[in-house]
Amino acid sequence: MPEKVAYVLDFDGTITTKDISKELAIHYNEDQFWIIHNAYKKGELGMRDWLEQSAALLPSNYDQLITTALNYATVRPGLTDFLDYAASQSRPVVIASDGFGFYIEPILESAGMLDKITGIYRNDLALDDHCLPFVRYLHGHNNCKICGNCKANHVNDFVNSGFQVVFVGDGTNDIYGASVANYIAARDRLADLCSIRELNYHSWEDYFDLIKISNLLFSQGFQGAS
Ligand SMILES: [Mg+2]
Repeated sequence: MPEKVAYVLDFDGTITTKDISKELAIHYNEDQFWIIHNAYKKGELGMRDWLEQSAALLPSNYDQLITTALNYATVRPGLTDFLDYAASQSRPVVIASDGFGFYIEPILESAGMLDKITGIYRNDLALDDHCLPFVRYLHGHNNCKICGNCKANHVNDFVNSGFQVVFVGDGTNDIYGASVANYIAARDRLADLCSIRELNYHSWEDYFDLIKISNLLFSQGFQGAS
């Protein structure tokens, strides 16, 4: 009987080539964004601080923000092939994003792929004429406040349901989801962190790589960690 396999994918820099949250903040207030981002990189700010302070740089206008987000959005090559491949294997594909989140469905819909995604777990951006934009955490951990959206929770939900989980990501806070997954596909900062923590991972750049990695992992049955 075939094993149950699920994919948990980051969005910014993983589904898209660019980090759309970062691009939006740069677009509307580049000088202030880099002050925030450099403080985050130095460890002086956490992920939630980054989100909240960067969100406050944006205009409170949903249509304007969506137009700008779509202008920066290019999906990584091979995504539609990968989603069709996963569907052909009856493998769920969910997105777990810790960015501003509101642009995920419009970007996927624009690319014609929204209906191929099994589930989307993301933050939301609250827009109100009377205050600066702020982030709503819809899937935060009950106790741990490091991330806005607990990617480890989403991986664990699948693991606890008997799935073998492949976590796919690129960023620093992806390490929390990756570290509890059965398999990791990593690029950029996630790959660096996996190396530092001596976690096995598969390097990837596009979704054709992910199909190849999946065939390598699952065509011969499960042989333990990669
Ligand atoms: Mg990312």
